[in-house]
Amino acid sequence: MPGRLQNKVALVTGAGSGIGLESSILFAQEGANVVLVDINLEAAQNVVALIATRSPNVKVLATKADVSKEADVKAAVDLAINEFGRLDVMFNNAGIMHPADDNALNTEEHIWDLTMQINLKGVWWGCKYAIIAMRENPTDEAKGLHRGGSIINTASFVALMGAATPQLAYTASKGGVLAMTRELAMVHAREGIRINSLCPGPLKTPLLMDFLDTEEKRQRRLVHLPMGRFGEAVELANAALYLASDESSYVTGTDFKVDGGLSSAY
Ligand code: NAD
Repeated sequence: MPGRLQNKVALVTGAGSGIGLESSILFAQEGANVVLVDINLEAAQNVVALIATRSPNVKVLATKADVSKEADVKAAVDLAINEFGRLDVMFNNAGIMHPADDNALNTEEHIWDLTMQINLKGVWWGCKYAIIAMRENPTDEAKGLHRGGSIINTASFVALMGAATPQLAYTASKGGVLAMTRELAMVHAREGIRINSLCPGPLKTPLLMDFLDTEEKRQRRLVHLPMGRFGEAVELANAALYLASDESSYVTGTDFKVDGGLSSAY
């Protein structure tokens, strides 16, 4: 049976860890050739090695890029086009959550700026170069390939609800991702480019586990989670796969929640 991303080309940012790592593995398993982008090249290369053993029939590449830098993002998209001939899926997933005391009174300007540069501006660069590439995608009916593509931007549940543990810059950056995604989805819908936000709940990945760095902090957070557990990165990767594939062909402009019910909780 053909994979759900057979013959497609995907680019994943933040591919060296967490959601990006699991999504890269899954995309490759479903038949995509994948460009893995991370500021930590070694981490991305380790994922390439993992995929090479599990999915030997697809091509995977790792490249170092800082998503906050326009030239880096352009070069990563160019790599996908030059090596694989097209770009069908752009997963703008890289993000940071600074462990600083991030509230209105204490957040320092440089932490606000860094968070916005990576989490929000990085998504803009990813959307910009993906849209330019996807407009040029050649149609190949026999291979199930068409013009346009799917862009997935990782936001967060904190952009949908107020968190009592303040992460002001982070929350504001993710709110920007939601708003930008909605607008871009409308502007580019008639070009066959679907653009959706993915809204994860709290996950057992380095990003959150480094932030909740004691068992006491984790237990305090777990009390608020309807399922009584943190999510797994692979549970987000499964949702990203749906948004990446043609199975979601009538889905655009959404904030796709994978949060264990948290956003419905009282
Ligand atoms: P993670 O820390 O496990 O992985 C993030 C990856 O991004 C790392 O490999 C890191 O090297 C890379 N990265 C960081 N800055 C980069 C940059 N400037 N350029 C390129 N790569 C960079 O995190 P994760 O939990 O997998 O998070 C992925 C996304 O999900 C992030 O956008 C995060 O904000 C979002 N998110 C996470 C949670 C959670 O609970 N973990 C919840 C909601 C949203």
